[in-house]
Amino acid sequence: SASEKKDFIRQIVREDLASGKHAAIRTRFPPEPNGYLHIGHAKAICLDFGIAAEFGGDCNLRLDDTNPAKEDPEYVVAIQDDVRWLGFNWHALRHASDYFDVLYLAAEKLIRQGDAFVCDLTPEQVREYRGTLTEPGRNSPYRDRSVEENLDLFRRMRAGEFADASRTLRAKIDMASGNMNLRDPALYRIKHVEHQNTGNAWPIYPMYDFAHSLSDAVEGITHSLCTLEFEDHRPLYDWCVDKVDLANSPALVAPLTAKGLPFEAAKPRQIEFSRLNFNWLVMSKRKLLQLVESGRVDGWNDPRMPTLQGIRRRGYTPSALRLMVDRVGISKQNSLLDISILEGALRDDLDAHAPRRMAVIDPLKVVLTNLDAGFEESLAFANHPKDATQGERQIPFSRELWIEREDFAEVPPPGFKRLTVGGDVRLRGAGIVRCDEAVKDATGNIVALHCTLDPDSRPGMEGANRKVKGTIHWVSATQGVAAEIRLYDRLFTVADPDSESDGKTYVDYLNPDSRKTVTGYVEPAAADAAPEQSFQFERTGYFVADRYDHKPGAPVFNRSVTLRDTWAG
Ligand code: ATP
Ligand code: MG
Ligand code: MG
Repeated sequence: SASEKKDFIRQIVREDLASGKHAAIRTRFPPEPNGYLHIGHAKAICLDFGIAAEFGGDCNLRLDDTNPAKEDPEYVVAIQDDVRWLGFNWHALRHASDYFDVLYLAAEKLIRQGDAFVCDLTPEQVREYRGTLTEPGRNSPYRDRSVEENLDLFRRMRAGEFADASRTLRAKIDMASGNMNLRDPALYRIKHVEHQNTGNAWPIYPMYDFAHSLSDAVEGITHSLCTLEFEDHRPLYDWCVDKVDLANSPALVAPLTAKGLPFEAAKPRQIEFSRLNFNWLVMSKRKLLQLVESGRVDGWNDPRMPTLQGIRRRGYTPSALRLMVDRVGISKQNSLLDISILEGALRDDLDAHAPRRMAVIDPLKVVLTNLDAGFEESLAFANHPKDATQGERQIPFSRELWIEREDFAEVPPPGFKRLTVGGDVRLRGAGIVRCDEAVKDATGNIVALHCTLDPDSRPGMEGANRKVKGTIHWVSATQGVAAEIRLYDRLFTVADPDSESDGKTYVDYLNPDSRKTVTGYVEPAAADAAPEQSFQFERTGYFVADRYDHKPGAPVFNRSVTLRDTWAG
């Protein structure tokens, strides 16, 4: 069923289907495999795959692999993992390199039509000739080469006769155009570099605009959604599609048949939307690569990274990301969004779905001196306060417990509602205790609290209703399981790490406290979690069992997000 969402792109799709312009729609998500996908890509993925699904169409995953020097199969694997994790399946997995033969024939067609020429200007000369925004460019002296000479030179480029960057194939459009992209843009460049799919078959590689527009046309893409920086490229996109006219050029698409690939002609329409940007993050692949290569983070999947692999490990859920994308909406207005939108979506998703558990992060021993040595019992707790379908689990309660060190104060500050010597506190779901004594070691550190459990305040008893100021969480010291707990915080100390001033850049603003690892204790039902299971640790935050390091019985938890937005910012 078509979505109720009313953004301008869905509106266009709706109209194109209603008018019969397209009987069915097809989109594509076209990442370049030169890095890991990040939160920004989640928006493009949700849009490309989401719109296709909502309108009964389909979406291809296309690896835009036209720049082999920067690309790597490792990225290809991660990209597929990320798209599936977000909950989407592609109709077909394609590569721009699948179409290198088609693109080559299309280039020859342009040459024969007089729409492209081989240019011998150096890169610097090309820049010089291009002109500026206020001044028209000048025609290349090679612009009027004959079709025969162009064909001969282009074939020799393809045969590998010329050095890198010594020549280009350029579209012949308009050096006086107000749109710089139309000033005879390059369609092919010479680059003697091995490609992950085509090996050393090609010493020339197609440029982005040429490859992208024609790949869309080959795959039958009806709506080609991309970010706003490509708005000025749209006239070139249309020029390539129209001039090459694949639908009426059977010879050009013949190589597809040989590869067993379909040709699904469409006149694709490019539509631009604004990029997703958040403060407190950097999202350029170049900067993320530098963080990884310089060892400032533990890798692409470090839980502090804004990569999908990183935030997944941090405990972000696919549904939280989809919720965030829905809340942000689709527009043509670029903006820097506040990170609270991202974190808020995660909190809301986990609040609704994550089971509750008790965990103590900074443990202080409590001994209930009026219970027998070895006293043990098991208490039933609801897994979720607002969702009875999540059922219950048993929590062991015993004479010795762990509580948070900060839930006790020897000298309570004004308004302190938790435990003090001589004061009462409720142990969540277990009864009311009074602290009789803080036991200290030789240096004066508090090592344990001796407390008395009010026997009339046990769960279900009348005395359990007695009013006490505070309720704290706890974990059995005999049955609780020691856990490695990683407390993550923001990677940068400033809200705008991308802005450069006083010669400082994002690497100068790394937060030295972005990860603190502590040993805490968790109830057995948390220790038994599967990797990637998320919980709310009551009063403490949302945590996830680490995707790689957590083992049932040897738990490792990552803090995904605090319970409330506590950052002063
Ligand atoms: P980066 O600049 O971070 O390296 P990119 O645009 O070069 O990103 P691609 O691999 O080319 O990365 O992106 C694939 C698709 O994802 C493109 O359609 C691109 O427009 C879209 N995309 C990339 N970054 C964002 C973002 N921040 N918000 C929304 N869409 C994005
Ligand atoms: Mg790109
Ligand atoms: Mg890029």
